[in-house]
Amino acid sequence: MIGANDPHEGLLSRHEAVLPEWLALYYERPIELTHGEGRHVWDAEGNRYLDFFGGILTTMTAHALPEVTKAIAEQAARIVHSSTLYLNRPMIELAERVVALSGIPDARVFFTTSGTEANDTALLLATAHRRSNQVLAMRNSYHGRSFSTVGITGNSAWSPTSLSPLQTLYVHGGVRTRGPFAALPDQQFIEACVADLRDVLAQNRGGVAALIAEPVQGVGGFTSGPDGLFAAFREVLAAEGILWISDEVQTGWGRTGDHFWGWQAHDAAGPPDMLTFAKGIGNGMSIGGVVARAEVMNCLDVNSISTFGGSPVTMAAGLANLGYLLERDLQGNARRVGGLLIERLRAATAGLDLVREVRGRGLMIGVELVAPGTDEPCPPAASLALEAARRAGLLVGKGGGPGGSVLRIAPPLSLTVQEAEEGAALLAGALHEARAELAG
Ligand code: PMP
Repeated sequence: MIGANDPHEGLLSRHEAVLPEWLALYYERPIELTHGEGRHVWDAEGNRYLDFFGGILTTMTAHALPEVTKAIAEQAARIVHSSTLYLNRPMIELAERVVALSGIPDARVFFTTSGTEANDTALLLATAHRRSNQVLAMRNSYHGRSFSTVGITGNSAWSPTSLSPLQTLYVHGGVRTRGPFAALPDQQFIEACVADLRDVLAQNRGGVAALIAEPVQGVGGFTSGPDGLFAAFREVLAAEGILWISDEVQTGWGRTGDHFWGWQAHDAAGPPDMLTFAKGIGNGMSIGGVVARAEVMNCLDVNSISTFGGSPVTMAAGLANLGYLLERDLQGNARRVGGLLIERLRAATAGLDLVREVRGRGLMIGVELVAPGTDEPCPPAASLALEAARRAGLLVGKGGGPGGSVLRIAPPLSLTVQEAEEGAALLAGALHEARAELAG
């Protein structure tokens, strides 16, 4: 039913008529999602999909989780009015939980409405605290789409301008299996990255405010340096008073399975000076935030409020969602089911020359694709696999770096063993199909 009278095509042309061209849509025939339940979503044409990407987008625990829906409805029916000018019970309750979970001593939290805004706030605090606009960031990183966060995004595919209010210095360490240090064993890899960091600092005039880094790079293709990297970085940073900001927008709340926060994989370093979070904590409601040591958080000496940050409805959603996550130990589920999913995917794609690597932690799994017979990224293969998976009833993410050919898997954290097995089989089938299409 493709054509001018097709309601789906009609919606697509209306989208194109009023929205920016760079608001990219997935799929040759983009999907309009209408509803979800558990780990499944449905589109307007009645197709049902197993959702292996919703966890990265918004849905941390499960689609249409009754506990969260009820909390939202009840709070919305009571009051949605102002978050910051009056005492706000749901915000205080969520703040208490986040502060206690953060691992940062004497912590304070400020709620925002997105990850971008959370990172913006962290940068505002770091630059004000250190009186410097110089920031260290990782190559291949992604931190958001505002003017300042674009300026610390090392992944050029996601960095639409080279202008920036910040002076950013990029360092190595976020990508383990590509780049100049890829062949080194872990310890030597870390030493090489530390030498690179020292070198960057030595060549720089003036005090750097902070290092901002994702413990596992998300948009960058679910890739990370070895455990302990940030402990080694921190030694160098601390000697100069440089703050460490851990961007936990993708890695927070137990997604990586072994740890509640990504920074904990670098435990010897202790907590960062600040961490930022967002995405799934509201299970679809817009919550972001910064946790910082009080000394850093309180360095601003003028009032600063956010109209919608900390709104009672989103806070109620966050409280219900976090409670569900902790009570059901979804971090443990991410570790167990994620481990199994990685194993299954490795087994099902062994020998497939399209797949360079299946890697991951918990339910944050990347499948890096290459042009067969080479070590070169192959974005068309990712697009073919994405389409084939969709035909099979599975949604995954694509376009992660390096080179834009990593499929990204981040299902809701309540994924069951059976769904993991089913999804692994569907994805492996899609990859074999993509390989055949490439050959044809
Ligand atoms: N930091 C990281 C690590 C992210 O992955 C993202 C979103 N992909 C952001 C920040 C920005 O978050 P938001 O889209 O909520 O602004």
